[in-house]
Amino acid sequence: MNIYGVTLEELSDYFEKHGEKKFKAVQIYDWLYKKRVKTFDEMSNIKKEVIQRLKQDFSLNIPAIVKKQSGKDVYKYLIKLKDGNHIEAVVMIHNYGNSLCVSSQVGCNMGCTFCESGRCKKKRNLDTYEMVSQILLIEEDLKIRISHVVLMGIGEPFDNYDNVMKFINIINNGKGIDIGARHITISTCGIVPKIREFALSKLQVNLAISLHAPNDELRNKLMKINKVYKLEDIIESVKFYIKKTNRRVTFEYIMLKDVNDTSKHALELANLLKGLNAYVNLIPYNETSHINFKKTSHDKVMQFYDILRKNKINVTVRKEFGSEVSAACGQLRTKEEEK
Ligand code: SAH
Repeated sequence: MNIYGVTLEELSDYFEKHGEKKFKAVQIYDWLYKKRVKTFDEMSNIKKEVIQRLKQDFSLNIPAIVKKQSGKDVYKYLIKLKDGNHIEAVVMIHNYGNSLCVSSQVGCNMGCTFCESGRCKKKRNLDTYEMVSQILLIEEDLKIRISHVVLMGIGEPFDNYDNVMKFINIINNGKGIDIGARHITISTCGIVPKIREFALSKLQVNLAISLHAPNDELRNKLMKINKVYKLEDIIESVKFYIKKTNRRVTFEYIMLKDVNDTSKHALELANLLKGLNAYVNLIPYNETSHINFKKTSHDKVMQFYDILRKNKINVTVRKEFGSEVSAACGQLRTKEEEK
């Protein structure tokens, strides 16, 4: 078992089971995540025999950075996993902190027509430690602290629910990496049963829904998942989430030229979201060579924005990042895999 995939609770139980004080787990977390040592031997306040047992039971190996590209306030990393698969992670330097876009799967099966990541079918889920490693590797490489995590890299986080929840538990723990729950965002294409399950977890983590269309007819064309979970089901599950957590939800809406960006769509969207007190994040589309959608002009994005505003919907336009290194949303590609 990899130690970076073990929660503090699990580690405490492990020590208890072996007749040790539970508090040892806090000490280990301190070595791993505060002092960032890479071997058990460096843990100088831990007894020799305990170190021996830890070495037998846990591995400390993490994936490796194989390539790094940088643009304005953005860094893209290609990371090689133990089994030879590759993933990507992207860091964005904001004025409020450093945000890491984490991948949750190798490839993705959701098959959204506009998304570059989905062109590689899912090979497997990432293990918890492989998600935690993305933070450790990048903090070390850039000598910065990651303050915000968004699960918006390659993969559908709710299609890897248990590992993602464990990942959040680990990075959120104050004895470890200590990223505040409100600084963590999960983005989903709308896996309704998992939205409900997530609501019951009572985590203070932000939820974002990739909506991209205001009616089923259009959403069916853009996102395969809509054939399984209709807009009405999504809205119902979001209402349930709001009731349980009292938290606001963000709806992501990519602006696709002449597809979903007219004033009629804006009105329809305002109507759909009426009364939810949600945020809408309008996303300028990043064009890619393999996919035919075009980007909506800035003026038209602002027209759409105004209509939502007039209809009392909270709306923002997402800042564009990283297109120069193909690190922008939807452009994350496991090129090595495709070869
Ligand atoms: N599967 C999850 C997590 C991926 S998030 C989800 O669908 O939410 C990636 C976000 O970027 C999603 O909102 C996705 O719809 C959006 N996206 C995908 N391709 C894009 C592109 N070419 N330009 C801009 N945003 C894109």
